[in-house]
Amino acid sequence: MPSVTWAGRSHQLAAGETVLDGLLRNGIEIAHACKAGSCGSCMLRAVAGEIAARAQVGLKDSWKTRGYFLSCMCVPEASLELAEVGAEARIPAQITAVDHLSDDVLRIRLLPERAFEFRAGQYLTLIRDSGLARSYSLASLPNERELELHVRLIPHGRMSTWLNQPETIGSNVQLQGPSGECFYVPGREEQPLLLAGAGTGLAPLWGIVHDALQQGHTGPIHLFHGALRPGGLYLREQLEALAASRSHFSYTPTVLNGPEEGRISVGAIDSIIGTTYPKLVGWRGFVCGDPTLVRSLKRKLFLAGIAMGDIYSDAFLPSV
Ligand SMILES: Cc1cc2nc3c(=O)[nH]c(=O)nc-3n(C[C@H](O)[C@H](O)[C@H](O)COP(=O)(O)OP(=O)(O)OC[C@H]3O[C@@H](n4cnc5c(N)ncnc54)[C@H](O)[C@@H]3O)c2cc1C
Repeated sequence: MPSVTWAGRSHQLAAGETVLDGLLRNGIEIAHACKAGSCGSCMLRAVAGEIAARAQVGLKDSWKTRGYFLSCMCVPEASLELAEVGAEARIPAQITAVDHLSDDVLRIRLLPERAFEFRAGQYLTLIRDSGLARSYSLASLPNERELELHVRLIPHGRMSTWLNQPETIGSNVQLQGPSGECFYVPGREEQPLLLAGAGTGLAPLWGIVHDALQQGHTGPIHLFHGALRPGGLYLREQLEALAASRSHFSYTPTVLNGPEEGRISVGAIDSIIGTTYPKLVGWRGFVCGDPTLVRSLKRKLFLAGIAMGDIYSDAFLPSV
């Protein structure tokens, strides 16, 4: 069986065991969240030994060449010597503001110590001093000084509860990233764009809409945002104002339950999209947020005619 060396001590892995599970089983605290190769919080560095390509999917090329890999996706065939993530892959940042966008959504603003380069719609991993790490999509644009995140308050959630305290403002954290392929790529400016997400799935879509508009997208852009109740449709006024000022941008707020109210559509967001656009041949789609909804929306957009390669998504997998 291969072994992994961590802080000078060697640990035997069980058959088929990932590096992350092996280290955790040996009582070594490694930051992790989704354990599915998505959030990036369990990234480590191999200073000796071979890493399979599967454990480096989605990482920057410069990180791959330095031996970085996702420990939850790595079942090594031979022994590895490991090191923690270095300063080159993490940027210190300060939390500068925390406010409520709705009852259960926080807006977090962060000031990175040095430039944090990303594409609107990508996500980062926020790491506390305690090592607790969670991924959040960026709602801000690359040319903005501060980074903006929209964080759903999860009852007893370790990161979101901590963020929801006045004393968190001014705290120092580390940022790792950016990650993800869900962003606007210029080049087909006339192609219609459909964006859909529920809850904080709006965060990356907000960034992508503004980025597409700033980059001169001329085709129709239609954003569908879903919530359980009207109160969950945060940033609604701003999106309605944007739709009023840009003739090729449309915004449809949807709620699952409740009476018809103003311009809000009532029903399941995927059914509302299906009724609005039975055919979507030639469109580009962006779907983000709850993993079950993302899976269902991707399937429906594909069946309505969007090529799989034109559907970009980020599923907000919970920690396990
Ligand atoms: C790529 C990616 C992008 C993400 N982007 C965002 C984002 O922009 N905004 C955002 O709010 N979140 C986002 N998430 C989810 C986020 O990383 C955390 O999982 C979430 O904030 C909960 O963290 P926590 O520490 O507060 O709760 P935890 O302490 O992790 O969870 C407490 C308990 O609640 C459960 N739980 C966690 N999340 C949910 C949920 N959604 N519904 C029901 N139960 C849950 C957990 O399983 C656990 O039992 C993203 C996740 C990924 C992988």
